[in-house]
Parts: sequence; structure tokens; C-alpha cells
Amino acid sequence: MNSPLQDGYGRKVNYLRLSVTDRCDFRCTYCMAEKMDFVPRSEILSLEECLLIAQTFVSLGVDKIRLTGGEPLVRKDVTWLAARIRELPGLREQALTTNGSQLAGLAAPLAGAGIDRVNISLDSLDPEVFQCITRTGNLQQVLDGLDASIAAWGSRRIKLNTVLLRGINHHELPDLVKFALARGIDISFIEQMPLGDTGHRRADSYYGNDEALAQIKPVFGLVPSIESSGGPARYWRIPGHESRIGFISPHTQNFCADCNRMRVTARGELFPCLGNAGMVDLLPAVRAGNEAKLRSLILQAVAAKPHAHEFDLSQPEPCIVRFMSHTGG
Ligand code: SAM
Repeated sequence: MNSPLQDGYGRKVNYLRLSVTDRCDFRCTYCMAEKMDFVPRSEILSLEECLLIAQTFVSLGVDKIRLTGGEPLVRKDVTWLAARIRELPGLREQALTTNGSQLAGLAAPLAGAGIDRVNISLDSLDPEVFQCITRTGNLQQVLDGLDASIAAWGSRRIKLNTVLLRGINHHELPDLVKFALARGIDISFIEQMPLGDTGHRRADSYYGNDEALAQIKPVFGLVPSIESSGGPARYWRIPGHESRIGFISPHTQNFCADCNRMRVTARGELFPCLGNAGMVDLLPAVRAGNEAKLRSLILQAVAAKPHAHEFDLSQPEPCIVRFMSHTGG
């Protein structure tokens, strides 16, 4: 990769996670508070402004962009944005992270617009537990979205993401693995991160990937894999199956040394690290259409990329006050 985006610790940044909205049709209990304050609409980036940011990052050597949110698919005309981003010279991959609720209708248009791969969040296969976690979600709608996605992209371009919650979904891990294996799709288990005040003590529902691995390894005979998707997941395989089982473990297996990403919120804030407060505000430069200023702000943010996240589950209050839905998961 030929990118000038190198931080003070020698890490190259080639990956942008671009949030297109902080709104979501779900209210997952570990992600959001029951009552949320959202960014005023006047401060939300237009899709053209999102494109300008994407274009500037790609001109600086970023070759992978993920659209995220909030729920990116509740943003009107997101397919238009995906198609424009796909045309940027130098872009290798465009991905999407979604809760899946809109995929039954949008999978085919998004695949046509140039989304290359999709992560779908799925925290439970039990309709009641699913509704309890998401507060407003409907499991069948997501499963229909998953079927449409397999038809549009094929199994090998789809990954499920499950946030581990002790006493809520951790007993479902073997079923979730079986579900992924039956469809030939990947699945990653994510340790809960203390982002924003959800009104729950994170430590109470935290379930570590060390425990998750010990729980499912003997059931499926997991073998470690050296494969990487260029992200924080450490993968395992099950002999005879296509699916990979990933573990994203900010607490039990820190991955900051390999971090290659930065995040831009739907309000144009550039966060060089998910787990730190530091931010560079791109909005004034974007609103002025000043690409030169944007480039220098991005370089400034890369230079300030912190060494590691500051997640600490032993604290009663989260040290990062932003919700994941604001930063862009
Ligand atoms: N709405 C989309 C979705 O559900 O995938 C995209 C945004 S969501 C914030 C992205 C991912 O972050 C989801 O997989 C979600 O489960 C995860 N997430 C949200 N809050 C989290 C937290 N506090 N710790 C760990 N993962 C979290």
C-alpha cells in the first residue's frame, strides 16, 4: 500500500469507516440508551459531503471504506452513495455493516451499486431475546434480509457479528455457530465495549471471548487459523466447513498494534481511535468544500492516532461518553 497515512507508531491507515447516520431503527441495549439525543439534522453530512470525505481519504491512500451508522440503511439514497464511492479510483473494497432490517429490499440494489461484502449484526436466534436486546427489532425481518443477502452476494461475502452478553445470549453461542455453518457464512463474536452511558453496568453483562472460546471449542473442534480479514478478528476454523469463526477481543486480546482504521461520524467528526476521546472536526472544511484543508486535517488526525484504546470495564462510568451508534460501529 502506498499511503501517506502513517501514524506516530508506524501503523498505516488504509481503512475508513464512514457513518452515514447516527439514527437507527433498533435500540440495542448495549449500544444505545432507551432515550437518545441525536445530532440535529442540519449538522448531518449530506451524501455529497460524505462522498467528498470518502474521495479525500481515497486520494490519500485509503483503499477500503465501510458504510456504517447508526443504521446506514435507514439513510435515504444510501445506494446512490455506494455507487459513487465504488467509482473512486484506487478503492479496493467497499463494505457495509448493518442490522439487516432493510436488506430484504436493499441487498440486490446494494450489491449492484458496488458493496462488496456485508456484516450483519445478529445477537440472538430467539425472537423474544432478539426483541429484548434490540428493543424494537424483529428477528424474522433480519433473517429475511440475510436470505436476500446470500442471494445477492453469496455466502462467502457475508459475516454475522454477535456481541456477547452474559446471561442474555451467551448460552446461544453453539446455536449461532451452527446457524452460520449451515449457511457457509462467517461469524464473529465481539466483546462488549464501554461506549456511552446505556444505563446498564457493562461489567454485569460482559462475557469475554476467552470464555466464549472455551465454551465452543470442544463442541466444534475449532482449530486456529492464521487468516486475517485485515481487521481485529482472530479466526478459527472447523474442519470440513467453509465458515470462519472470529473473535474480536478488545479486552482479552488487544489488537491496537495492528489498527489500520479511522472513523468519520455522520456529523463529520474524525476519530482516529474508537476508544479515545480525541477528534478532529472536518465539518467546517467539508461545508466549505475545501479539499486541501480536509487533507491537512486528516493528516493531523493520523499523526495524533493514540497508541491504544482506553476501555476499562472496572470503572462504574464509561470513560468514552460517545455511543457506538454515534461514532459508527
Ligand atoms: N446498525 C448497524 C449494525 O447494527 O450493525 C451498524 C452500526 S452498529 C453500532 C455496528 C456494530 O457495533 C454492531 O455489530 C453492534 O452490535 C456493535 N456494537 C454496538 N455497541 C457496541 C458495544 N458497546 N460494544 C461492542 N459492540 C457494539
